[in-house]
Amino acid sequence: MTVTALGLPTVNRGGPAEPAPASGPLIDTYGRVATDLRVSLTDRCNLRCTYCMPAEGLDWLPGQALLTADELARLLRIAVTRLGVTSVRFTGGEPLVTRHLEDVVAAAAALTPRPEITLTTNGIGLQRRAAGLRQAGLDRINVSLDSVDAAHFARITRRDRLADVLAGLAAAKAAGLQPVKVNAVLDPVSGLDDVVDLLRYCLEHGYQLRIIEQMPLDAGHSWKRDAVIDADRILQTLRQHFDLQPDPRPRGSAPAELWQVGPGATHPGGTVGVIASVSHAFCSACDRTRLTADGQIRSCLFSTEETDLRGLLRAGADDAAIEAAWRGAMWAKPAGHGINDPSFVQPQRPMSAIGG
Ligand code: SAM
Ligand code: SF4
Repeated sequence: MTVTALGLPTVNRGGPAEPAPASGPLIDTYGRVATDLRVSLTDRCNLRCTYCMPAEGLDWLPGQALLTADELARLLRIAVTRLGVTSVRFTGGEPLVTRHLEDVVAAAAALTPRPEITLTTNGIGLQRRAAGLRQAGLDRINVSLDSVDAAHFARITRRDRLADVLAGLAAAKAAGLQPVKVNAVLDPVSGLDDVVDLLRYCLEHGYQLRIIEQMPLDAGHSWKRDAVIDADRILQTLRQHFDLQPDPRPRGSAPAELWQVGPGATHPGGTVGVIASVSHAFCSACDRTRLTADGQIRSCLFSTEETDLRGLLRAGADDAAIEAAWRGAMWAKPAGHGINDPSFVQPQRPMSAIGG
């Protein structure tokens, strides 16, 4: 049996040239099983986070390129009933800018077996929609927030909308979306100050903070490995203010390394997670498959290849043909993202057009 640099065995021995299995779990040639589907609903957004989008926005996908709610519902059914997907996360772009979000959530919630349904959002407009989303079947939510300092927030997102995001978070909690998680990418200038106040804020409000290392998925392709605030620096900074103890629960395929905030904190009992996608890649435990807003399957955030399901749908393909194409796409999933390799090539699509 061949073993890759990541310690992954190759299960097909002959390499991806052999066809994907026609049934069973959604497996790749390294034996990883994808059960977690990330669905991007749009590439549009009402913020312009510096690490994701340029100030002027992007050339948005034209309306006819996007999957319709019916097309999406069909792909969700195929994923859950034929491919073994057990959890679905809606993302974007900004998923709250799509009007049919509640309908799509309800379509996912009506499937048998019912998948877990989650949402990643910047929180703008969530104040009005949190209760309705919960009613439609949303189980959990991640709200992105990099700083609770209004000036820092406005510089990072290029929009003065901190109050809307905080109101959205409160509405999510009031609607019973449990747990409410906060995703933060740290700014190279203010990030190490921001993270201390952000963790305090999250502990006070009962939100679970997850800090994500910045990845090379910015539209401007200006990411620099040396400028990334990595997990070690984040933890070193947090330890100056909080007592952090490793969370004893098994991590499984969860990307975050979790820490329990000890009794020294003003609000003990909370946890904080660090997602070290760059400095400690967790590709060997990856269980994700991705669908873009224009109906392309990506086996990895960093894929340079995509499989066109929208074309198949619109050409009248039956469920079996779509299932086979999806299986083929995942079968060819690379061992790892290769960010740290000299030969790494950043994908053409930025994070907002892939779905984070
Ligand atoms: N607009 C929604 C939001 O911001 O939550 C959903 C889409 S956004 C692309 C999903 C997540 O990706 C956010 O938590 C965001 O912070 C993160 N993200 C965006 N660009 C990133 C990058 N270059 N590196 C790491 N995370 C990034
Ligand atoms: Fe928009 Fe989310 Fe990208 Fe920020 S991270 S620009 S909120 S898609």
